[in-house]
Amino acid sequence: NEALGNGRAIELFEANRLAEAPWELSLHARIDEGLRNGDIWLAFQPQWSLADQRIYGAEALIRWNHPTRGAISPDAFILQAERAGRIDALTYWVLEEAITAALKLNAYGHRFLMSINLSAQMVDKPDLVPNIAEIVARRGIDPSLLTVEITETSGVRNRPAACHNLSQLRSMGFRLSIDDFGTGEASLAYLADLPSDELKLDRRFVSRVTTSPRDHAIVSSTIALAHALNQQVVAEGVEDQATLLALRDLGCDFAQGFHLGRPQAFPAFCAMFEQSQKSNQTRSI
Ligand code: C2E
Ligand code: MG
Ligand code: MG
Ligand code: MG
Repeated sequence: NEALGNGRAIELFEANRLAEAPWELSLHARIDEGLRNGDIWLAFQPQWSLADQRIYGAEALIRWNHPTRGAISPDAFILQAERAGRIDALTYWVLEEAITAALKLNAYGHRFLMSINLSAQMVDKPDLVPNIAEIVARRGIDPSLLTVEITETSGVRNRPAACHNLSQLRSMGFRLSIDDFGTGEASLAYLADLPSDELKLDRRFVSRVTTSPRDHAIVSSTIALAHALNQQVVAEGVEDQATLLALRDLGCDFAQGFHLGRPQAFPAFCAMFEQSQKSNQTRSI
């Protein structure tokens, strides 16, 4: 088509080809397309401090609304992105977006912490620390406003390299958090070997803290263990008030969950944050 011009015609041709290509084989291009056109975006879930009952931070969670496939769960496509060799691009995109949000939220005048998830496939890479250092320097953000969440997993290929990277990030000022604590095979080994600041108690224990004496004992002793090791504890997946109260009574530091706020787009998150800053008694636990 003359009127379209050559470049546009090729673009259309490429788009059609992409639509027909098998999903896994074309994932690399699809992720790039999703990043370009905004189908891939970041949601923010509030993190609450149980001591002063306010939002002190957020976890950035990636979302993909695919035009034909609908919402694709990050658990699924992060894995695919790792296989397709696109996890680096996704991770640095997440970091840039999360920093943009963190800088805006810190402009409200309160110290605001932003958490991002780091894939096990990334954590041992030799260029990870230099790349992150370049990004935070260019963006002018204090790394102590950023928390790196790593899921305890056997997916890390080079453990010594991973530990080295994480120690370096920590000495740059990043907070380090062990995600989904208690579900992997290496929970305690991680605590022993990694210089972390925080652990996130997995939802499976948190959700049964009021109904199962065993889970209550696990949560209670994990909080004690964490505190003995100078770690702070975030409870994940708090879905009701009774659970929140139980966690507060157990001395848990922070909480996150649908009861306190769902992951949401940045404007909605900002509205919620602003609201919570207005009144001191933001939420009567
Ligand atoms: P995660 O880091 O453990 O994130 C917590 C997950 O629990 C999120 O699922 C969140 O939406 C969900 N959640 C929060 N509160 C509740 C609750 O009260 N009840 C229930 N049932 N669920 C709750 P999501 O967003 O689907 O993310 C799943 C996983 O995908 C994350 O687990 C994380 O491991 C991974 N992920 C998400 N974003 C990224 C990213 O940017 N990079 C990497 N590498 N992984 C990511
Ligand atoms: Mg996480
Ligand atoms: Mg988690
Ligand atoms: Mg998880």
